[in-house]
Amino acid sequence: MNTHSGQAIADAQAARTSDVDWRALYARAITDPEELLRRLELPLSLLPGALAGNSLFRLRVPEPLLERMRPGDVADPLLRQVLPLEAEAMEAAGFDPDPVGDLQAMAVPGVLHKYSGRALIVTTGACAVNCRYCFRRSFPYSDAQTGGHRWQAALAYLRQDRSISEVILSGGDPLVLSDHKLAAMVRDLESITHINRLRIHSRLPVVLPQRVDDALLGWLRRSRLQRVVVLHANHANELDHNVELACRRLRDTGVTLLNQAVLLRGVNDDTDTLARLSERLFAIGVLPYYLHVLDRVQGAAHFLVEEPEAKRLLQELASMLPGYLVPRLAREDAGEPNKTLLLPATD
Ligand SMILES: *Cc1c(COP(=O)(O)O)cnc(C)c1O
Ligand code: SF4
Repeated sequence: MNTHSGQAIADAQAARTSDVDWRALYARAITDPEELLRRLELPLSLLPGALAGNSLFRLRVPEPLLERMRPGDVADPLLRQVLPLEAEAMEAAGFDPDPVGDLQAMAVPGVLHKYSGRALIVTTGACAVNCRYCFRRSFPYSDAQTGGHRWQAALAYLRQDRSISEVILSGGDPLVLSDHKLAAMVRDLESITHINRLRIHSRLPVVLPQRVDDALLGWLRRSRLQRVVVLHANHANELDHNVELACRRLRDTGVTLLNQAVLLRGVNDDTDTLARLSERLFAIGVLPYYLHVLDRVQGAAHFLVEEPEAKRLLQELASMLPGYLVPRLAREDAGEPNKTLLLPATD
């Protein structure tokens, strides 16, 4: 078989899975630790720990992501991001429920206006996947998002502050919302003349690429706003052929694609893995943007890579890759007017 027909077969297979409605795949996500272990042919001795972690923050992994994990491999870098562990119950000094100080920066419920020119909107608390290291594992979403009547208050805030030119839809994950809702939100934002950029922070094009369907592309294409989608992938194995197709479709509608990753012990804490991630991202049309050091959220201490080691890794990465494939190493600090850049350093 030559590479051409191999590609054609891969395209045809991807087309079949992308026919499956994303909402069905979203609803069918695996939430039972025992089912996860069974599906991946992992020892049931892992179950008590998984149940303990699950009781703190629920397991959630969509099927299309599960398919990219290696059966029988407990060290699989994608599995590590989603498998609940006993270790999550351990208290660790300096690890808190709200490590990034988001609640202090809330201008009106659901609107974080911390950075000059940019306002971030917490559109929903839901996600397609529950990442064990996520700072949102204990974020009080019920009070702090723009659902229902809160949207009008959020809009009023954006309208009265002419310094805001970019709106970031975040969450949770904004792309779990329906296209009907999202299109209506974007129309409201477009009516505010000083807003000219729309940024969407989402892990769905990676973990559930079927989300990038005609309805989504429709409202994105029609918008007068410049559009940036910031993906979240931590390992090259996450970026399969369906993700590549989703990225191609997004770019074809004029969307700029960036990626943010988190530096995670046992997932991507070596330069070869980070280099492969950058190379694969670029191959599918995405520029590496941020590499975050871990937010010190309770339950995630076992993922920590300390800053001196993080800096060493990034320096080595910079010696391996062209500059545009080296992400910015950043840390989120409570109360600061921007993310703190560790490399390249800003002072
Ligand atoms: C990360 C972040 C932004 C965007 O920062 P950039 O450096 O422009 O990517 C905006 N608001 C909040 C609250 C953030 O955490
Ligand atoms: S907000 Fe992002 S990192 Fe956190 S659980 Fe959702 S998808 Fe994962």
